[in-house]
Amino acid sequence: PNTVFWFRRDLRLIDNPALLEAVSAAGDDGVRALFVLDPVPFRASGGPRTSHLARSLRALDDALGGALLIRHGDPVTEVPRAAAEIDADEVYIAADYGPYGSRRDQRVEKALLDAGATLHRTGSPYAVAPGRVRKPDGTPYRVFTPFSKAWRTHGWRGPVDAPKKVSWLPAKDGDGFPDVPDLPDVELPEAGEDAARERLAAFLDEKVRHYKSDRNRPDHDGTSRLSVHLKYGELHPRTILAELAKHRGEGADTFRNEICWRDFYADVMFHRPESVWESLDQRVGSIETDSGKQADERFEAWAAGRTGFPIVDAGMRQLLSVGWMHNRVRMITASFLVKDLHLPWQRGAAHFLDLLVDGDYASNNHGWQWVAGTGTDAAPYIRVFNPVTQGKKFDPDGGYVRRWVPELAEVSGAAVHEPWTLETQPEGYPEPIVDHAAERKETLDRFERVRR
Ligand code: FAD
Repeated sequence: PNTVFWFRRDLRLIDNPALLEAVSAAGDDGVRALFVLDPVPFRASGGPRTSHLARSLRALDDALGGALLIRHGDPVTEVPRAAAEIDADEVYIAADYGPYGSRRDQRVEKALLDAGATLHRTGSPYAVAPGRVRKPDGTPYRVFTPFSKAWRTHGWRGPVDAPKKVSWLPAKDGDGFPDVPDLPDVELPEAGEDAARERLAAFLDEKVRHYKSDRNRPDHDGTSRLSVHLKYGELHPRTILAELAKHRGEGADTFRNEICWRDFYADVMFHRPESVWESLDQRVGSIETDSGKQADERFEAWAAGRTGFPIVDAGMRQLLSVGWMHNRVRMITASFLVKDLHLPWQRGAAHFLDLLVDGDYASNNHGWQWVAGTGTDAAPYIRVFNPVTQGKKFDPDGGYVRRWVPELAEVSGAAVHEPWTLETQPEGYPEPIVDHAAERKETLDRFERVRR
């Protein structure tokens, strides 16, 4: 029988168990490769993100010999329609564990059932599917370290090959591929499965050895930059873990731990879907935040990279330009919004989600909760990042700031982190919008008020 394979966040052929199932069920008949541009999760936000998805779909279509059928709209109507057109009774997907995706899949499943067809879920976008790693008493882990130990003990199965000999049904009458936006002067990483695999190989060859120390340095290109490939499933984390197993040492261990963080946050979201927007620690979450005209102006300055704190501005401008930000700088900019500007973490998280190419509810919103002190393994609330000290420590020569803040490009060395100490003020660069020491004190005072 003809089958449908509905691609979502698994835009790859290798190590895709759900795809293997679709192909095996089709036997000698054909498989329709479908992608539905659902405006909710795939809404056009930042140019870099739209660009990545558009290029990734084209790469997938090339790998399928032009057989990818693109439909635009609500999957609840589009998936059954695409199945009915080829008389397929079976639709295969990799399960989605997010709150929106799992609800949508239930609705699609029901619509398919009404039409006499079945939805099959296999696998997940994680090394270990959310909900599997549990304490001996069956309850979920709430903090990272014990989860990570149990995760390693649980283990994961090895990667699977791409299906051989598939007869893809031709993609007639699609609604068309999304356009790749024109982004002059912006260099974006390649999209698609081949590019993802090449990036992984290059990272393991050249960088993983030094990852433990280099990963904190935004001025070094020391991280894998695999997050966008993981988000669109151009690469499965099990493929990464299998390749990583060929490498020993601290760098490889630290990297494995980061892949585990991704699984952990997905697990937290699976058990507590409300944690996407609600503070896990409600007491810290109840700390007073600012609103009104001044708060809005401060938010705008932060989002535009015009706070007058160079490391913060460099990060926010990197985000605006390429849709990605280094992890250390995500922490610094997020801390600045919450603890220097006293704005709710949810506001910053929503902004990040809009622009990040790797924007992901579980990793992003729990990352924000971590910084805001409301999350699972939160840093103690009273630890407030000092943007100048952080800048000097992790961008010691100032190269990262100069790269992203052109007004400071002529300032040499670490002085770039404190432009207010220079004899002549760099033209066009704003004065600090707040006094860090005073805001730090304000943060601690607000914390005291909920602690009592
Ligand atoms: P690497 O250092 O090479 O790490 C490899 C992979 O491990 C990453 O691709 C990612 O999948 C995973 N990983 C690493 N660190 C984390 C982490 N702290 N939490 C979860 N997974 C992690 N990551 C996202 O994928 N999407 C997001 O929307 C996102 N938002 C974040 C927001 C904030 C405020 C913070 C502090 C972190 C956020 N992260 C997010 C985590 C981390 O910053 C990115 O995964 C990382 O910077 C991506 O770059 P990389 O692939 O080079 O990372």
